Amino acid sequence: MKPKKRGINTICTHVGEVADTQFKGAVSPLFMSSSYAYEDVAVKRYPRYFNTPNQEALGRKIAALEEKEVGMLFGSGMAAVSACLLSFLHQGDHVVVQHDIYGGTYNFIVEEFEKYGISYDFSEGLSQEGFAAKINERTKVIYVETPSNPLMRIVDLEMINELAKAHGLVSMIDNTFASPINQRPGDFGMDIVIHSATKYMGGHSDICAGAVAASEAHMDTIWNFAKNTGGSLSDYTVWLLERSMKTMAIRVKAQNKNAKRMAKWLDAHSLIKKVYYPGLKSHSNYALAKKQMKGYTGMLSFELLPELDPKKFMKQLQLIKPSMSLAGVESTILSPAETSHALLTPEARAAQGISDGLLRFSVGIEEAKDLQVDISQALESVTKRQKIAL
Ligand SMILES: *Cc1c(COP(=O)(O)O)cnc(C)c1O
Repeated sequence: MKPKKRGINTICTHVGEVADTQFKGAVSPLFMSSSYAYEDVAVKRYPRYFNTPNQEALGRKIAALEEKEVGMLFGSGMAAVSACLLSFLHQGDHVVVQHDIYGGTYNFIVEEFEKYGISYDFSEGLSQEGFAAKINERTKVIYVETPSNPLMRIVDLEMINELAKAHGLVSMIDNTFASPINQRPGDFGMDIVIHSATKYMGGHSDICAGAVAASEAHMDTIWNFAKNTGGSLSDYTVWLLERSMKTMAIRVKAQNKNAKRMAKWLDAHSLIKKVYYPGLKSHSNYALAKKQMKGYTGMLSFELLPELDPKKFMKQLQLIKPSMSLAGVESTILSPAETSHALLTPEARAAQGISDGLLRFSVGIEEAKDLQVDISQALESVTKRQKIAL
């Protein structure tokens, strides 16, 4: 099926699928071959060339979702991030990177770029000046991530695109937190859209994968690099991911709705100090989020009152599970101070706005009421143990 303009659930369910001409089965057959006949194909089919029938099928769905010409699957989000950055950055080049990006991407840049002779600067804040001040004559790429982790800050994509066009840069965005359902960066001119498909695209906490959507010209450059480094995804996982993505819009919309309810409820709670959710009018980037997003995601963060112990609170939760990852149909919670930002001093964390009582909440598809009951009983138990009057 050609990726023409269709409704979001139709794209998720059908676009890209491989027709089962032999048996007329309802879903794309799984082709596990790592060896294909070589006649009639300009580029030989091979899993590491990213062109097996299942890889191409899911690539078409991702392209349609992001309204880009082509999509490609990777073995992980980081395989996608690293392939995109390293295909456009050569020795002597420079990249401007948003300061509060995903920890894995930060580590990749800080630990690997020097040996390739690639220099980088992190933006100062998220304003136009904060990015523009870091662009120099060697800059080739501008790289952003919005909403960002864990405070759900929003970067103005129209502004980033203008900067990129004015300076001849390739613009890249990690669109993982939004998912293609809540944000389509191509609408604002962003060149390369990257996902950790481990998160909303997979959605069931059982797949590790990455995805990229871009123009054919940009993807040729990425493909040339990626076929040499070999970060392809197994066809079985590609096939499972296609299955997951059929329900992505339904899942994500349910998570958006739940998260908004939870954000409002937490915001009004006397034991919660602050809630960070771009769908709340009190969020500092609410207007921008409203302008460029179609939904506010299932991700939010909140701070307990400082006298409450976040570790004890998390221990008391029964339904909401502690988890390093996010975006599954099950609700999970994480303390950035203990995990993603554990290597920073409390002062350095505070400078980034991350208090030790901050908790990142990935809201699932359970009934919001049940999530509220779980949080209420955990808060009650902690206040009792700590002998804090409610
Ligand atoms: C998880 C994540 C990644 C990395 O993806 P993996 O699939 O774990 O390699 C990149 N960016 C963001 C925003 C993420 O949440």
